[in-house]
Amino acid sequence: MNFTRYPRRAYLEEATPIEFMENLSTFLGMEVNLFVKRDDLLPGAGGGNKTRKLEFCLADALEQGADTIITCGAVQSNHCRLTASWCCKENLDCHLILEERVKGTYHPENNGNNFLFHLLDVNSISVVPGGSDMMAEMRKKGDELKSHGKKPYIVPGGASNPIGALGYVACAEEIMNQLNAGHQDIDHIVVPSGSAGTHAGMVAGMIGTNANIPVSGINVSRPKDVQEGIVYNLAEETAQKLEMKMSIPREAVVCYDQYVGPGYSLPTDSMVEAVRLFAKHEAILLDPVYSGKAAAGLLDLVRSGHFPRGSNVLFLHTGGSPALYAYMPTFRKDN
Ligand SMILES: *Cc1c(COP(=O)(O)O)cnc(C)c1O
Repeated sequence: MNFTRYPRRAYLEEATPIEFMENLSTFLGMEVNLFVKRDDLLPGAGGGNKTRKLEFCLADALEQGADTIITCGAVQSNHCRLTASWCCKENLDCHLILEERVKGTYHPENNGNNFLFHLLDVNSISVVPGGSDMMAEMRKKGDELKSHGKKPYIVPGGASNPIGALGYVACAEEIMNQLNAGHQDIDHIVVPSGSAGTHAGMVAGMIGTNANIPVSGINVSRPKDVQEGIVYNLAEETAQKLEMKMSIPREAVVCYDQYVGPGYSLPTDSMVEAVRLFAKHEAILLDPVYSGKAAAGLLDLVRSGHFPRGSNVLFLHTGGSPALYAYMPTFRKDN
């Protein structure tokens, strides 16, 4: 695949590691061999998946002459933290619009990512009620900034458009290069599925590289059909952007929604268990909103015999651990 037609910043020093999780695999009875792709270790303050997408989105902004980035997310958004982080490095202004999806959850002095927005010195934070039209809110902010002579560029929520999703097509290729170099066979990949750029990019990349390893998405908010439709459309648009000759088969997009629990960002017992098991057996920190719920899905799929015995399963760790510090009471032992 050819990414050279698109502006891209070089935020990755090298490929993120793929590690065998021997302790966790043993704990689960060696039904399957679990591997992890450590995108939690990507550069950018606190690490995580948005760095790969921002390589393309911020390069596009710079190419268009922008001096200011506007983006949006939930009150504990990792995407907003990483956008703020790369704006520091690129000397771009950064304005955040936060959606208070769970009423009463935003406090300026919150811990976790919210604390880091301030430390990374974002230019402004506006909080809007859950269900707001986030694109309209960002455009409104953009008009205001333009009237002050600024050149704003809007990065959509999660950087999940065909430009940002290129970052995960590139990740799929990176994974295949690592597996081929190490003669490591992987049968199945499990990823979190949120604003969908990660999942869509991985699906397009696995087809585009002709590796065709099946990818399963674990939803963090939406019902299965809705999420599959969103991922499919974005994967198809991304494949077109890359001028891939093949289209995305609809059945290549598979989502599981039974690990969402009561809703986006709301803790579940299986998320708490997954966060504890990854910490205790592998010294890997997950997060409560994305990677913790995705790992809960992974553990359940393993325990329920979804993968044939002896399969090699790769979990994409998308990061997010700064959000743990906003959820400490959820992880107290007596909880
Ligand atoms: C944004 C995010 C995801 C989900 O990725 P999408 O591309 O939005 O689907 C998963 N994990 C973490 C830690 C994230 O911040």
